[in-house]
Amino acid sequence: PTTTPTGEPPAIDPLKLDPDALKVVLRLHQHGHQAYLVGGCVRDLLLGRTPKDFDVATSAHPNEVRATFRNCRLIGRRFRLAHVYFKGGKIIEVSTFRANPTELMVEPTEEEGAENGNGQGGDDLLITHDNVFGTAEQDARRRDFTINGLFYDVTEGRVIDYVRGRRDLDERYIRTIGDPEIRMREDPVRILRAVRFASKLGLDIESRTYAAMEGAVEDLPRCAPARLLEETFRLIRGGVAAPSLKLLDALDALKILLPPVAAYIRRSRENERTFYAFAEALDRRVAKGEPLDDAILLATLLVPISRAAPPPEESENSDAPPSVARSIEDLLAGFVQSARLPRRIAERCRLLLLAQRTLSGERRRRGAAFRRHPLFGEALTVFELSVEATGEFSEALNTWKSGEVPVARPEASAAEVEAGR
Ligand code: ATP
Ligand code: MG
Repeated sequence: PTTTPTGEPPAIDPLKLDPDALKVVLRLHQHGHQAYLVGGCVRDLLLGRTPKDFDVATSAHPNEVRATFRNCRLIGRRFRLAHVYFKGGKIIEVSTFRANPTELMVEPTEEEGAENGNGQGGDDLLITHDNVFGTAEQDARRRDFTINGLFYDVTEGRVIDYVRGRRDLDERYIRTIGDPEIRMREDPVRILRAVRFASKLGLDIESRTYAAMEGAVEDLPRCAPARLLEETFRLIRGGVAAPSLKLLDALDALKILLPPVAAYIRRSRENERTFYAFAEALDRRVAKGEPLDDAILLATLLVPISRAAPPPEESENSDAPPSVARSIEDLLAGFVQSARLPRRIAERCRLLLLAQRTLSGERRRRGAAFRRHPLFGEALTVFELSVEATGEFSEALNTWKSGEVPVARPEASAAEVEAGR
């Protein structure tokens, strides 16, 4: 429609809406359910950005959603969602209107649709259970930030705003829905989310929200490590590693999320500069649209830390300096333990970091065999990013890229390799 039923132009250009998301909404309507576009896609469209994906919120319960679509699967145990599948692997996520379980706890009236009780008590705000169905308005209010709490009614062409999200979008503020102290304490992962939206969308964090984030940092260790890790990776994958990690450091959250990074940058101003040069090189690369997997992302950020590892001890087998290999191993083992980094990623990351020493010529390897290693291409990407970050080893990089192998003599220093010998 070019105008809404009330004669106003639609708030969002209908051509920018995903046709499959529209199909999902309209089909739910046909079956008598309420359905809106919700969250990130509405926010991004109103900001003039292209949404990454389109989510739908509906009054239909998960089983009803499943019954409405053939190409549909229910996922998640704690938080049941429907995924509706389309061509090309596209997924439209459909979630049932939910209420914030802590709100129901304060006010235990049996709101319509509230199916499950919750076993929480006392003044512990951490949400551990959130499968309580509710109304559209409750669903808006249980979301994290006002800018993420908007619905879009595609048939009316209008934004439904229960949370004053449009004002905050216009004024470019990130503000929690409701009391920031409570909202941050009940889910401290929102600290990382606020940081991501601030960095990614160039918005300011409203001052009471920011103060609440500072207060909730100490509760971060209580969050599920997998969620913390995922939100941390989302910052890095989103091409905003440098500004986000700076903000997290200012909040004193980095020492909880990435302890070795926090320790490294605290050691000297020089270290701090070096680390952020790597993060910025990585962000520039992501901004170009090149998909980089998690192991490459993490390895690039850890290169400066692994380079600062203690120098190899004198040993007969200079090929495998035990202390460097071991400190890289320890570094990653730490992440596997504290952040529950999947072993599969840690192992690839370890190999990528070890390979850096061969690429720079600090560690001798038979070049031809090394080139055939399945991780060679990815290791070279990490190496290229470190050359961008520091300017070091650019000759070695050119040599590898030209298809040759830098000649490393036993006594060759990094500087000589760089000089092309
Ligand atoms: P992106 O475009 O980066 O995916 P998004 O806003 O879609 O951003 P998601 O993590 O995909 O973010 O979450 C979808 C929506 O779910 C959010 O817009 C928000 O309304 C809600 N949401 C997600 N995580 C939380 C949370 N921890 N607390 C409250 N609401 C949340
Ligand atoms: Mg999303």
